[in-house]
Amino acid sequence: MSAEPKKAHNFIQNLIEDAVTKGEHTGQVVTRFPPEPNGYLHIGHAKSICLNFGIAETFSGACNLRFDDTNPEKENQEYIDAIKRDVQWLGYTWAGEVHYASDYFDSLYYFAEELIEKGKAYVCALSADEMADYRGSLTAPGKNSPYRERPVDESLKLFRDMRDGQYQNGEMVLRAKIDMASPNINMRDPILYRIRYADHHQTGNKWCIYPMYDFTHPISDAMEGITHSLCTLEFEDHRPLYDWVLDNITAPCQPRQIEFSRLNLNYTITSKRKLKRLVDENFVDSWDDPRMPTISGMRRRGYTPESLRTFCDMIGVNKAGGIVDMGMLEFAIREDLNTRAPRAMCVMRPLKVTLTNYPADKTETLVLPVHPQNPEMGQREVTWSQVLYIDRADFVEEAPRKWKRLAPDKAVRLRGGYVMTCKEVVRDASGEIAELRCEYDPATLGVNPEGYKPNGVVHWVSESDSVECDINLYDRLFNHESPDSDKDGDLTDHVNPESLVVLKGARAEKNLATPRTDLPYQFEREGYFFCDQELTAKADKPVFNRTVTLRDSWGK
Ligand code: ATP
Ligand code: MG
Repeated sequence: MSAEPKKAHNFIQNLIEDAVTKGEHTGQVVTRFPPEPNGYLHIGHAKSICLNFGIAETFSGACNLRFDDTNPEKENQEYIDAIKRDVQWLGYTWAGEVHYASDYFDSLYYFAEELIEKGKAYVCALSADEMADYRGSLTAPGKNSPYRERPVDESLKLFRDMRDGQYQNGEMVLRAKIDMASPNINMRDPILYRIRYADHHQTGNKWCIYPMYDFTHPISDAMEGITHSLCTLEFEDHRPLYDWVLDNITAPCQPRQIEFSRLNLNYTITSKRKLKRLVDENFVDSWDDPRMPTISGMRRRGYTPESLRTFCDMIGVNKAGGIVDMGMLEFAIREDLNTRAPRAMCVMRPLKVTLTNYPADKTETLVLPVHPQNPEMGQREVTWSQVLYIDRADFVEEAPRKWKRLAPDKAVRLRGGYVMTCKEVVRDASGEIAELRCEYDPATLGVNPEGYKPNGVVHWVSESDSVECDINLYDRLFNHESPDSDKDGDLTDHVNPESLVVLKGARAEKNLATPRTDLPYQFEREGYFFCDQELTAKADKPVFNRTVTLRDSWGK
């Protein structure tokens, strides 16, 4: 279980607390997080993880991790491994072994036969089209299948033949016998089992029939002794079926399904299927591309588990739905990193500065705090020398009014160092500014200059004691508030072409030669940046991913 106590109360917690107080609930509270291993987890799953593990934690109960693996064609081991890693990284520990719905295939099959024997299920040979036709609509009742009243023995034999590979995909299905006139379409004799000749990542080729989600889920919950089965609102209409399944078999217990609203975040998408498209169609590099709203992508970008848990606390849990502003997620990571991230200087677009009055063979060691408000984080050293770099963006030849940086004949303080004045602009053959020649004021280390005022503070590094690095400036992946609800276009039309800008040849202070891999840095005046270990290994120089800018400047 995670270290942090849950702060906000949510309606599910209240409901359980109430049941406990009234004695309606006794014994342990057991929840589960049930992902389908058909993609990587995203920020929406983080909400479900925090809720399920959080509830278990609050009531000193247990939370299982169960792979809901009934679609072998779409699932694989890579996804299973990634999901386990992400849950652990968020700081949660599942109870006991990992579970798989496929662990229960034998039991599910047994319960299916039980339903057939009780006259509650039958094998149906309608084609998919016919079945759709028989199903009716929201306004019209369905019609009974001609196979609905076939004798129990016949259904039982056909079901066993299905299992034994006597039929092809789509030839037969097993259906629950409930009510074709039910106003709830989910209750109109839903399919329980279908034929699929597919190798399964857990059970190999043992089965050629696979149970449907609505049959599998309640039984898996019951097999594990789940007390509260928390799921998203689209399953509200499936609850009668969830209860029907458990009411009509000899279920080991009767879990209770409770629905809450999905997390929707603007400027991104929360659907594994759609995220997979971005990977498959090369709009991003991988599932863990730092632009992806996947947990692994956010981790690589520099999001911390704490910030994601805080975010999930901030958005709360309810049935109302709505769309959460991406700014809230960015706020959560800024808040966390502001208090914890070590500070460093990195010049993104270096411009050479020569201090004409500083000896070429001299250097000085300057001591700066790792974090200005956290003295216990210690100190760092940077080197002052004749040749320095500042950012090209911090110099202009014609200073506008209120310009707070460097310009000809203006002075600025170099953060943690001396004040210098720009005396000359040197150009290269093409007319580009190649160098600034400046004079430093030796009387200004840690004190204000006499008789003049510096025009602001800029960050810098020394030439001799800095390391070259590459910078990935990440921005939002989409430039549309709801990229997947554009009726006239495709979500890929809205991929932000500036979601990644690569800067080569930035220079960082020497302390970043071997960067920390546990937390992003705050690059002073620039934002938060996290070392990308995979790219750093490839580039043999540090590569940093921008986690988030210092301030919210989206759309401004
Ligand atoms: P996706 O469309 O991304 O595949 P899903 O709901 O099909 O989503 P599952 O792997 O079945 O994904 O989800 C595991 C659990 O996470 C479920 O209980 C599901 O309800 C929950 N979940 C998925 N997406 C969200 C979301 N956006 N907000 C909150 N919970 C979510
Ligand atoms: Mg799904």
